[in-house]
Amino acid sequence: MATVETVNGPVDLDELGFTLIHEHFRATDEAMRFQFPHLYDEDAEWEAAISDANAVKGHGVRTIVEPSAMFLHRDVTFSKRVADESGLNVVPATGIYTYDHLPQPLGNRSEDEIAAIFVHEIENGIQGTDIKAAFIKCAADEPGVTPNVEKIHRAAARASQQTGRPIMAHSRPASGTGLDQMKVFSEEGVDPAKVQIAHTGDTDDLDYIERLLDTGCWIGMDRYGLDIFLPTEQRQKTVLALLERGYADRMFLSQDWCSTLDWFTPEAEEQIKPQAAPKWSMTFLFEEVIPELKERGMTDEQLDQMMVENPKRWLA
Ligand SMILES: [Zn+2]
Repeated sequence: MATVETVNGPVDLDELGFTLIHEHFRATDEAMRFQFPHLYDEDAEWEAAISDANAVKGHGVRTIVEPSAMFLHRDVTFSKRVADESGLNVVPATGIYTYDHLPQPLGNRSEDEIAAIFVHEIENGIQGTDIKAAFIKCAADEPGVTPNVEKIHRAAARASQQTGRPIMAHSRPASGTGLDQMKVFSEEGVDPAKVQIAHTGDTDDLDYIERLLDTGCWIGMDRYGLDIFLPTEQRQKTVLALLERGYADRMFLSQDWCSTLDWFTPEAEEQIKPQAAPKWSMTFLFEEVIPELKERGMTDEQLDQMMVENPKRWLA
């Protein structure tokens, strides 16, 4: 039986069950919090994370894939505590979340040297623990596939080639980055069936999505609730159209929720959220999205495919 690495060690694929493929129990800037700890409240962060974990567990979720990487304050000890106290499986990543900037130690390393860092985390463990990374994260956003972003993608590709581990690539459909990212992976010889282009659900451009699917990758319809990128109704229409075209076995539903996110001051967040993401949470899928998709024709088999079977296949 094939297994998947979690923060509590390898788990049989069949143990994963209902899986949210892209959620964060905490996403903060690690440099900010190291330098200015008075801006952060560890106890409040813990309360937010464990309350979200228990809430999704109440909805039947058994596994959370947590794509926090370098620059999103990945902390596997924190993730393990969430897993231990909630009973959820939490699946950790290696990788680097940057839209362009690289610090000197990475700027001055080659693709192969960066790949070796990822391979170390897959084979030996993360942050001095024996918790091993199950997949590799990279990102491209508004600046596109810049030389630095390309370097991280090539490093991710090479680490994947050496270990067989899948890749999750944050994308920005508004800039069409998905196709450029797949081009880099294909040049590196990565099997497209190992690659998930995250945030593809931020567009309702079916031509773009189908061109991406034609490359053979998975797509993340994974930002439900983030109206600022695409309102829920357009996300729903897009998912239903893709289901009708037979793509249930190629996509994931998730929310990219962050139990704590430090991008805005609490005051700014209070102002922005009602417009940008009024219903965004770790349970929005269960409260509204899935019931509505079912009413509009999604079958139980399609849901099971997206939430149980696809995570197994991608992670295996
Ligand atoms: Zn994310």
